[in-house]
Amino acid sequence: MKPATQLLRFDAAPGDPYRPLSTPIYQTATFAQTSALEFGPYDYSRSGNPTRSVLERQLAALEGAQYASAFGSGMAALTTLTRLAAGGRILAGDDLYGGTYRLLSRISAHQDIAVDYVDATDLDAVGAALRSPTKLVLVETPTNPLLRVLDLPSLARLCHERGALLAVDNSLLSPLLQQPLGIGADLALHSATKFLCGHGDVTAGAIATNDSDLASRISFLQNAEGNALAPFDSWLLLRGLKTLHLRVREQQRNARRIAAFLGRQPAIRNLRYPGRGSVLCFETGDIETSRRLVESLRLFTIAVSFGSVHSTVSLPCRMSHASIPEAIRRSRHLPEDLVRLSIGIEDADDLLEDLAQALEALMPRAARS
Ligand code: PLP
Repeated sequence: MKPATQLLRFDAAPGDPYRPLSTPIYQTATFAQTSALEFGPYDYSRSGNPTRSVLERQLAALEGAQYASAFGSGMAALTTLTRLAAGGRILAGDDLYGGTYRLLSRISAHQDIAVDYVDATDLDAVGAALRSPTKLVLVETPTNPLLRVLDLPSLARLCHERGALLAVDNSLLSPLLQQPLGIGADLALHSATKFLCGHGDVTAGAIATNDSDLASRISFLQNAEGNALAPFDSWLLLRGLKTLHLRVREQQRNARRIAAFLGRQPAIRNLRYPGRGSVLCFETGDIETSRRLVESLRLFTIAVSFGSVHSTVSLPCRMSHASIPEAIRRSRHLPEDLVRLSIGIEDADDLLEDLAQALEALMPRAARS
């Protein structure tokens, strides 16, 4: 099935005699057993829940995977991922969501995991870094917030030559625009809070893989650490997913028009738009100008996160990436005046008008008259 069909045509309620079109919410913590010594398919919702199972099957299908696990947030999924490198080393891309950097540098690095960072766009640097034994390479592509695109097939080849697993955070594009497992990655990860949910009303995470051993280690950790997605949130995510195709298509269409418009504006510098997806960013030359621009927008909500039906705007160095110390941000050439836009499904004409009025407000009064 094509993705647009898969999003709607799946078994919403396996085994349910009433055959509902929408998956029932099994809002229960525990399930009765037929006897003291026999378990049914489900016994306790931390270990497994029918609503979550439908979601997990659907997430796997979308990523072209055999297995997927759903977590209470993207960070919960990332935490589980880091456990796969216990006793070894993680090599991470150096342009990553601030919370991922915080997890790796302030938690994993103080447990039994060594963490190093590399510019993952530089394959020679990755090859050199992989000379030290490495269990897991973790990257985002496009990266957040600089939207740099990585060469995943070459990265996968380098990782596999050295016996490392490649995990790709696919949150920025969604499985409709990129399926990392199909181009060599071992694990695809999501902050499902973003495009997969799409409505900004649930935090969730997911990990997908085709490797049965990795899948059972992930399910074991999910149960042992108790960070699975709750039944109602699983249902919200299933509901949101049905329109993923329409949302992503419309968001991308709007983003292309907005990128073309911003590319013509003299006040906008270093516009970064990878040509796919609906997140873009740019600089203005100084932090104060960026702040004024962001605060002059009326339709773009100032908010962290991206991928929702609502358009949002943020200053990554002050918001989503503030947990990366300033000196490290500087060493990674993360511009302090960077503005990130996540384009929603409003009418693009309204969004363009809003951007035009905010850019005009930046100009000195004399230049305007
Ligand atoms: N990965 C990326 C690329 C993100 O941008 C985020 C959050 O913004 C996360 C992971 C963490 O996900 P969550 O906020 O759902 O915990």
